[in-house]
Amino acid sequence: MTNPDVQALIDLQAEDDIVEGIVAQLDAVAPRLAALDNVRAAALKAIQQLRGAVESDDRKRTELGQRLAEHKERHERNVAQLDLVKRMREATAAVAQVEMGKKVLLELEQSHRDVVNRATEGRKVLAEKEAELVQLDANQAAARDAITAEQAALGKTLEAAKVQRDARAVAVSNGLRAKYDRIRQRRRSQSLFAVESGACGACDTAIPVQRRQAMTSSGAVEVCEACGVLIYAREG
Ligand SMILES: [Zn+2]
Repeated sequence: MTNPDVQALIDLQAEDDIVEGIVAQLDAVAPRLAALDNVRAAALKAIQQLRGAVESDDRKRTELGQRLAEHKERHERNVAQLDLVKRMREATAAVAQVEMGKKVLLELEQSHRDVVNRATEGRKVLAEKEAELVQLDANQAAARDAITAEQAALGKTLEAAKVQRDARAVAVSNGLRAKYDRIRQRRRSQSLFAVESGACGACDTAIPVQRRQAMTSSGAVEVCEACGVLIYAREG
């Protein structure tokens, strides 16, 4: 004869499989949200770095601009001075100074041009990246809404599955249910197995013939001594 507890427990286990399946789906939602967060954070970081570079170039441009203006002024003074110098030795020194000043001036002008160009280009790329982030946020908003809706739907399904599960649980005798719940909580997966070919359906450890026969005739649910799951012998 079939122990009615075995069938009730099989039914309960089927409900637990459903509950755990939904929980697994809910657990899978968090990484998807995290992935969206990561993409956004990477885009934001790139923008911040770019902005930092542009700001740094702006500071350099200001500083170079000031140095350039000062140097230009000094150079013009030196050039004007050249006309006033009469003696040969002084004239040679003054010419050398003007030549050197001109060289420095050209270098400063080149540096200034470079930094202006770089800042302009950087600002252009920054504007593009900022526009991309706005677009990304718009795209992500749709994805996030979909995930939130999915989460809510799964939550409802889970509640319903739990109610159905608890209704099934009532049919299993208290002692056996407590034992099963303990094992199920530990394993978080199938915890009731049929004896297959004389061995535990979970770990395949052979069950002595006498015990097997006793299980078949009593229809009792027992604990596998090797792996700790609940086992029962099928009829026939
Ligand atoms: Zn086992």
